[in-house]
Amino acid sequence: MKNNPTPSLDDPIQFIKGVGPRKAILLEKLRLTSIEDCLYFLPFRFEDRTQFKNISQAVPGEHVILTGEVLNAGTIFMGRWKRVFEVIIQDETGIIRAKWFRFNETYMKEKFKTQQKFILSGKPTINKRSGLEIIHPDTEQVSGDGVNSLVIGKIVPVYHVTDGLHQKSLRTIIKNVFDKYLHLIEEFLPDDIIRRHKLIPRAEALFQSHFPPEDSSLSKLDTFKTSAQRRLVFEELFLIQLGLAFRKKNIVEKNVGTPFKTRGELIKRFVKLLPFTLTGAQKRVLSEIMEDLEKEKPMNRLIQGDVGSGKTIVALTAILTAVDNKTQTAFMVPTEILAEQHYLNIRPYCEKLGIELSLVTSALKGKERQSHHENIRTGKTQIVIGTHSLIQKNIQFKKLGLAVVDEQHRFGVLQRDAIGKKGDHPHLLIMTATPIPRSLALTLYGDMNVSLLDELPPGRETISTELFYENKRGKAYDALENQLQQGRQAFVVCPLIEKSDVMDLKTTVTVFDFIKDQFPKYTACMIHGNLKKEDRKDIMSRFLKNEIHVLVSTTVIEVGIDVPNATIIIIEHAERFGLAQLHQLRGRVGRGIHSSRCLLMAYHPVTEEGQARMKAMKNCSDGFVIAEEDLKIRGPGDFMGTRQSGIPLLKTANLLRDIKILEIARKEAFRLIDQDPDLTAPEHQPLNKALHRFLGDYLELMEII
Ligand code: ADP
Ligand code: MG
Repeated sequence: MKNNPTPSLDDPIQFIKGVGPRKAILLEKLRLTSIEDCLYFLPFRFEDRTQFKNISQAVPGEHVILTGEVLNAGTIFMGRWKRVFEVIIQDETGIIRAKWFRFNETYMKEKFKTQQKFILSGKPTINKRSGLEIIHPDTEQVSGDGVNSLVIGKIVPVYHVTDGLHQKSLRTIIKNVFDKYLHLIEEFLPDDIIRRHKLIPRAEALFQSHFPPEDSSLSKLDTFKTSAQRRLVFEELFLIQLGLAFRKKNIVEKNVGTPFKTRGELIKRFVKLLPFTLTGAQKRVLSEIMEDLEKEKPMNRLIQGDVGSGKTIVALTAILTAVDNKTQTAFMVPTEILAEQHYLNIRPYCEKLGIELSLVTSALKGKERQSHHENIRTGKTQIVIGTHSLIQKNIQFKKLGLAVVDEQHRFGVLQRDAIGKKGDHPHLLIMTATPIPRSLALTLYGDMNVSLLDELPPGRETISTELFYENKRGKAYDALENQLQQGRQAFVVCPLIEKSDVMDLKTTVTVFDFIKDQFPKYTACMIHGNLKKEDRKDIMSRFLKNEIHVLVSTTVIEVGIDVPNATIIIIEHAERFGLAQLHQLRGRVGRGIHSSRCLLMAYHPVTEEGQARMKAMKNCSDGFVIAEEDLKIRGPGDFMGTRQSGIPLLKTANLLRDIKILEIARKEAFRLIDQDPDLTAPEHQPLNKALHRFLGDYLELMEII
């Protein structure tokens, strides 16, 4: 052990007894490099080792913990290819077999020596031939006389481990961490908050979250509901919300931008051009936007609206307000196809109103590209549509008054901020069609004002969603033909574009051949990411004009594409898509006055999750409910990817489980920042330090400094 003059929670993990360079590398795989990392590396479940059973008491299907000694161990061959490693364990009351189908023989033989004592934990089953057995049990060797304070007679933590690092050694490391550093864990939450919410002190909370008192409830522990765990959840959510509150108060609200005059001549002329009247929700959201735009403080608003709720027109009204105020707008979208579509949609209005609009895509080359950039730089171009390429250095605006980001969920927080930096605090309008659960919204967009576009334009027929299996392809095609006969159009979406023997996916190409074969009277085209830009653009505009009747495509059409005459979408291999994606794809139809159908074409075998997703699609058309379902099926960790999407990696909190604590933490955080905006009060110093430490990785994201 090295000597450390002033121990601190920042000490590297090597300061712990038993952690040498080899273990340190393994620990790093678990993102454990410092003492503090270890303190917060919480067990994901617990095992009640106060309640051992005899082998004779084990019941098939019921989880048990047994202890016994190895009677025999070795590899058994079952048929020609199948090998099983079997360990027979016995106690005074009987024997049970432990079996592994994936194993390293040398290692297993070394581990399970005859007469060694082991703890086994798992769910027994009955094997007709050999009796009671446990497949892939958790095992742990009991050393010496079996008295090992960490694993017997206690509620024992179970951690996520990695190859080469076992439960037992991780447990020992963490125990050693507490032995040496417990006295250094200081409180940083303000007293009044601790009192109001009856939180237990930090050191105690951390210790008990790893090594719970013997009388703790296992079910509470496993659901993260003990007071120790709740305190840690609160702490984490509170720090995130504090960061957001800090950012809102000290950055967002202090920015000075350009107040706009709203409801000018241009807007009046524009509204007259619209072929429809705005929905109540559109009007409401627009007035919220207008109120923002009139202020000197730049707008910082998120529009959440389900697919087809009419976000584009709302954005366009804001954009024209920017034009009316002699400033430029950057309209950033996630895909080139969507950029092209917005361009096609918006151009007619711009032509009639005499506005300069530019589409910046990677298809622009050489002189043409330069002249586009030049026009943006001199301010001749008033509205620029493009992908994240708009953030690039070579694009400079003369006076950027408004930045609009469409389908925000496709961008990270950094990109969202970067577009705003193209000007001097422009107004910012962000739109997202993947409604996200409230808990995520509070975390991701906690510093923004949110408008809900919660009404679809009138006359929309519901989309009926049906599930077909591959063997019912004929029926699905009948439905498709029926729509084509009525003059409607169709999307057929596939997951991949090229043949893949391994995955045996119906590829876009095969499906395209089917369609051409089945519907010779109609024009079908194929669109995917590998097509040249011009070809893609050409296909999209012909589809929009109903010159193409069936569009076979990869998911490039996922977001935003708007062709009201398309009334049927067949999603091939629907079981492979995520729920949010399925909902987006379905949103490509049902955008006009005709009723629409979404046919989910599934291929056996379908996983349980796949079934749950398709069921959710069938039963539900509301994007918000779908988002909640999605979160339930996938679990929050996986919901929107990782850091890229700007969601801090939560260590203890779970946005699905802890929404109540999140709301309390949020209230407390915003209240505190209101009272002490810079956290300079002496009693808030520990908190100030903790916040900086916590946000270390996210400072850039949060722009706190
Ligand atoms: P999204 O919210 O998914 O981006 P869009 O803005 O693409 O939706 O709008 C979907 C369709 O609805 C478009 O064809 C658009 O012209 C139409 N639309 C928008 N607002 C209205 C309205 N108030 N009445 C009728 N149709 C509307
Ligand atoms: Mg849209």
